[in-house]
Amino acid sequence: MSRYVVPPPTRSEPLPGLDQTRADLTRWLSLLAAIGCMLVWWADERAGLNSTWASIAVPLVSAVLCASAIAVWWRPRLHNLAAGACTLAAATYFIGSLVSASLIARSTSLYEVATNAQFMPTVYLGAFVTLSRGAATLSWLSYLAMLIAYAWLYGIAPPHSDDTLSHFWFALLLTHPVIILALSYIGVLHSRLSAAERESQSGRERFLAMLSHEIRTPLQSMLGSIDLLDLKVRGEPERRAIDRLRQVSGQLEAHLRDVTEYTRLDNPAWQLHPQPVDLPRLVQDSCDTLQPQARARGLQLHCHIAHEPRLQQALTDPTRVRQVLDNLLHNALKYTSHGGITVTLAMRPGPDGPGDDSPHGDALALSVQDTGIGIAAEALTRIFEPYVRLEERRLPRAEGTGLGLAVVHRLVDRLGGQLEVDSTPEHGSCFTVVLPLRPAEAASEAPQCGLRPLRPLSDASPP
Ligand code: ADP
Repeated sequence: MSRYVVPPPTRSEPLPGLDQTRADLTRWLSLLAAIGCMLVWWADERAGLNSTWASIAVPLVSAVLCASAIAVWWRPRLHNLAAGACTLAAATYFIGSLVSASLIARSTSLYEVATNAQFMPTVYLGAFVTLSRGAATLSWLSYLAMLIAYAWLYGIAPPHSDDTLSHFWFALLLTHPVIILALSYIGVLHSRLSAAERESQSGRERFLAMLSHEIRTPLQSMLGSIDLLDLKVRGEPERRAIDRLRQVSGQLEAHLRDVTEYTRLDNPAWQLHPQPVDLPRLVQDSCDTLQPQARARGLQLHCHIAHEPRLQQALTDPTRVRQVLDNLLHNALKYTSHGGITVTLAMRPGPDGPGDDSPHGDALALSVQDTGIGIAAEALTRIFEPYVRLEERRLPRAEGTGLGLAVVHRLVDRLGGQLEVDSTPEHGSCFTVVLPLRPAEAASEAPQCGLRPLRPLSDASPP
């Protein structure tokens, strides 16, 4: 038997487009600037070139830059705050350099002060690129204020130094507003493109909502009419035609449901609606609904529910749990031709043993085990990807879109749970959904369907 614990899906970007780029830039620029500051400080310290102000301020500025990089790594959404902190630290350092230079009257021109603060324009440049518009304006103003202060205090003396690097830093100090302007313009263009992208995303959403409504509603009435027609027809060929009609309409409805559901899960506005749920009832109801379908296919459908009060008040989203269970059950029915299906709802104890009510403690395990065609070990990692179907090769007549398990995978992730699958080709599969259980009181047994060998259902005893 092969066992596979499905890793969480790669979520869509935590921040939309440009914000994500800004977060990345803030992270890397502040880290590089921190390293750069410390290297320059270290070299100057060894050469005895650091003023008292520089020897205290530069390590502090580096610490702020480093902390900002870590903060953005930890929470990308903090990028504006982090870039603001970097700009503030750079501005404080610049002003301090200005004051200390005027006090000790060593630097007498903008050129000299500029060469004293070599790396700061780069920090400013980073801040302009990474900050969103309002904060960037502030950064601009502080830069201009300092430039005017320098010029007023010292005047702009022409550079006399032969040091090419000093010329470079001076040129950068004077020209970086132009570079920033160009970058800001690129930023504005980029945000316009992102807005267009968002617009097209919402257009796609609207189209799918329309598709869902405009096609599924008439489809429902078509299915109702087919049922009515079924009562009237007598002849065998007509009945077969009606059965076929019902079947294809059902397939069409399932396809539409899968596609709309999968696309909806991409929407950042998609939300869960957690509430206390009587899970035993939900599971029993789902089994009862599919019982006629199982019987029609000559399969046994058993439902084993642990007697555990905590299961009756689990805090979760009932619609989504039902959707997960129904998808797994439909697959089990689809890919099983003999034997049966067992649905088990039980507790799974946390790592510290049963009775642990912490979020990482006891969980609920909902499994759907079948005696169907099973899945080869090498295919287990692929079946949760969208539009992946193994049926193309092995069972050409099984209908499907290849989206069912992709939807299950994402839903389980959104519910804060984990998905496991155990399968033996030609013997069957067991899909287990482990969900956190919030309001928990007591401990219970933990049948782990995945770790037991699959047995024919006729031998299976209730847990
Ligand atoms: P489909 O619409 O093809 O059923 P799914 O995403 O639900 O799409 O499943 C992906 C593939 O995983 C299926 O094509 C099938 O090969 C395999 N699969 C899913 N559930 C089972 C199962 N219970 N038994 C055997 N194979 C399964």
